[in-house]
Amino acid sequence: MIESTRENILAELEGIRDAGTRKSEFSITSAQGTSILIDGKAFINFCSNNYLGLSNHPEIVAAAKQSLDEHGYGLSSVRFICGTQDIHLQLERELSQFLQQEATILFPSCFDANGGIFEVLMKEEDAIISDELNHASIIDGIRLSKAKRFRYRNRDISDLEDQLIAAQGCRRILIVTDGVFSMDGYIAPLAEICDLAEKYGAMVMVDDSHAVGFLGKNGSGTPELCGVQGRVDILSGTLGKALGGASGGYISAHQEIVDLLRQRARPYLFSNSVPPTVVSGSLKALELIRAGSMMRQQLQLNAQLFRDLMVAEGFTLLAGEHPIIPVMFASETDATNCAQELHDRGIHAVAFSYPVVPLGKARIRIQISAQHTESDIRKCVTAFSATRH
Ligand SMILES: *Cc1c(COP(=O)(O)O)cnc(C)c1O
Repeated sequence: MIESTRENILAELEGIRDAGTRKSEFSITSAQGTSILIDGKAFINFCSNNYLGLSNHPEIVAAAKQSLDEHGYGLSSVRFICGTQDIHLQLERELSQFLQQEATILFPSCFDANGGIFEVLMKEEDAIISDELNHASIIDGIRLSKAKRFRYRNRDISDLEDQLIAAQGCRRILIVTDGVFSMDGYIAPLAEICDLAEKYGAMVMVDDSHAVGFLGKNGSGTPELCGVQGRVDILSGTLGKALGGASGGYISAHQEIVDLLRQRARPYLFSNSVPPTVVSGSLKALELIRAGSMMRQQLQLNAQLFRDLMVAEGFTLLAGEHPIIPVMFASETDATNCAQELHDRGIHAVAFSYPVVPLGKARIRIQISAQHTESDIRKCVTAFSATRH
């Protein structure tokens, strides 16, 4: 690399550090879970997406090991050449049933699912109407499409209606939203969105990555929670959060849409198959979720306990029912200092500040798991309180 290139890359890195937005990584020396080791030291973990505690569940680990013996390590192929096994088809069928959609197509990740769909489905004569706080993968996916783009304020139904009116006359109209917004834990108003979609002849797509597996009576996600199952045209989601936490994503939608994606979606056509261990682990995760509501109930109880205890201690939380629980701070430095002090007390949690969240809205985002014990949660609250003295 020539010297000037090295210098301007270094300058960019310095800029990131100076802006206070440099991200560093902790080296975890254990399996994922509510108790982890970081460089050999024990922490209670409050910042993973391991909502149901399945990331290192013994039955899932066993299913993955068995799959390794029966289906091998890797496919060395994309799906349509020689990379489709019986278990890939089984997982697609079971996800369709679980989500109550006609068909499902697996992707290497949800980032790829969102990266692949808009270019295929939405052309120049079409319109995409997107919530302003949608996930980065939706934003990037939309960039790859030639459709007209409209954006509405976060969860703002009346702004959405204005955008729908502006998009009238386009061939296809697609409203796209996260089911849950990950910085706030807020849930998209899907009933109102579906009503508007029907009124204006639009399709609805929901990325349910932070909900699939645990929101709604059967855990199938925000459409179930909001009472709109069967009215959402397209669901995307990840296998990398509640559903075992390994990797992989999917689109679950009308049969014709899934058929078209299998022919045209570039991250599907040109990237490797999801590995057998992950497919079998995901099948086991779905089985555990279908088998009972215990994990979901425990998750809800844990989240409620944390909220109640923190409010009683005088902390400011963003209201809600999701296991993403933002603890708000007056300043960016308060949030950062508190996270550091929690860390010193054996609690692993992360502070987010501008530009990840709006200026003046700095927070520590706590993520509750069904695997947390009451003692874990009380220790966390005690540690928060101790940081104030
Ligand atoms: C985590 C997340 C993704 C990315 O999922 P991967 O499978 O890890 O690529 C996409 N969308 C949303 C809303 C997410 O929260």
